[in-house]
Amino acid sequence: MIETVVLVHNYQRPEVQLLADFLGDSLELAMKAREVDADRIVMCGVDFMAEVVKILNPDREVVIPDHRAMCGMAMRLRAEDLREFRREHPDAAVVAYVNTTAEVKAEADVMCTSANAVEVVSKLPEDEVIFVPDNNLAAWVDANVEDKEVIPFPGRGCCPVHHAITLSDLRELVARHPDADVLVHPECPLEVCRAADHVGSTSQIYEYCKERQPEKIIMGTEVGLGFRIERELGVEVIAPDHAVCPDMKVITGEKVERVLDGRVPEPLRVELDRDLIVDAEETVEEMFRITG
Ligand code: SF4
Repeated sequence: MIETVVLVHNYQRPEVQLLADFLGDSLELAMKAREVDADRIVMCGVDFMAEVVKILNPDREVVIPDHRAMCGMAMRLRAEDLREFRREHPDAAVVAYVNTTAEVKAEADVMCTSANAVEVVSKLPEDEVIFVPDNNLAAWVDANVEDKEVIPFPGRGCCPVHHAITLSDLRELVARHPDADVLVHPECPLEVCRAADHVGSTSQIYEYCKERQPEKIIMGTEVGLGFRIERELGVEVIAPDHAVCPDMKVITGEKVERVLDGRVPEPLRVELDRDLIVDAEETVEEMFRITG
């Protein structure tokens, strides 16, 4: 009998969330991945999340229920482009957001997640920091870290789902629900973050609701988190209808059930080259070292 643990990201479909042994944001899932000692880890999220599990626990069989679940932002940045860009900034540290491929992580000095991006950058000794690939998160970090130059990757790297959440979306929802607290994810444009009562990762938004128990929130992130907050905390969640990540929704309850029944065809197994794992692991572990 193969022992299996199911890790699920907060943006997954409700039916998938209900199959979770552990539900959380990227940072929590990475921390959990380090300690799991089951034979098989099923990662319900997108490709880079499954790679992080493999990087942190390479001796386990890591499975993603649909290998087409790929983050639209992560796949756009190539390691060779980052390598070239850092040559132009030889004194800068390179911080890779968790939403990157394993190859990009291997090229960077330290990883961060949305939960700790400000902390990681502020604790680096370098004055200049290249931050990839999300320019919105880079702008949020820049606005919240003093005395450092945060250099975003050229171009418009961003999460298409969060970037599409606009100030007018927020204003419209606030006009209809003036009593709601406004909580947004830092992948949103800076002007949206500045208009919010609280900015945080999915788990930080969850924790805010748990601690303060607002009756209602306007949520500027992917709608999947709303299911968890309403179900577990009884807080009413209002989110823009278009805040849906098609990459996250590729995974369905049926696909997870199939894997749990033992049907794991080759493409669903996450395999990474050993040297790549070693290099990427250094970058991920550096984050844990910096943040304690
Ligand atoms: S919500 Fe954005 S960052 Fe998250 S998986 Fe989807 S495309 Fe990638």
